[in-house]
Amino acid sequence: MALENFDYYKEEKKGGFIRPKEYVSSIFTIDIDDLVKKGIKALIVDIDDTIMPRSEYKIPFAVYSWVEKVKEKGLKIFLVSNGSRVPRTDYISKSLGINGMALSFKPLPFAFKKAMNAMDVAPEETAVIGDQILTDVIGGNLLGAYTILVKPVAKEVSMIRMPMRFLEDSIINSLDLEINS
Ligand SMILES: [Mg+2]
Repeated sequence: MALENFDYYKEEKKGGFIRPKEYVSSIFTIDIDDLVKKGIKALIVDIDDTIMPRSEYKIPFAVYSWVEKVKEKGLKIFLVSNGSRVPRTDYISKSLGINGMALSFKPLPFAFKKAMNAMDVAPEETAVIGDQILTDVIGGNLLGAYTILVKPVAKEVSMIRMPMRFLEDSIINSLDLEINS
């Protein structure tokens, strides 16, 4: 029997738990109707470099409209940030009229579990959306959620974070991910 026929080989080839289900250019190109069709009822969304640059406090107008659109489709949303700036996360979630949590320690499962409990949904009814494989995608996949990787909204400017972004880019290249839209 050829190696290709073994399930574990297929899983390995797909990248296993480091591979997102979808890779998109931004949150705005995510097909919300398609998610609803797939049985998704809630979104867990990363803040920094996913919905806005980590250096910014001003929420882009387009993000307000996107959140409204998602709510109109009947989906719940919860924001999670690995950042330590609790007041900033509070400000952003309150402004958008949704729940949010800083100090999430992704890819550890606590914040994701808390978010799912708060929204009263199961992992298979949840999509995790973020710009990093090592935190958002791995964390979501480990819990069995539907994971969507987005391109970071800002160029990395912090010298400390540059090696991390470089590593993320190499993983994306090695996975041979195709961008959907
Ligand atoms: Mg991020």
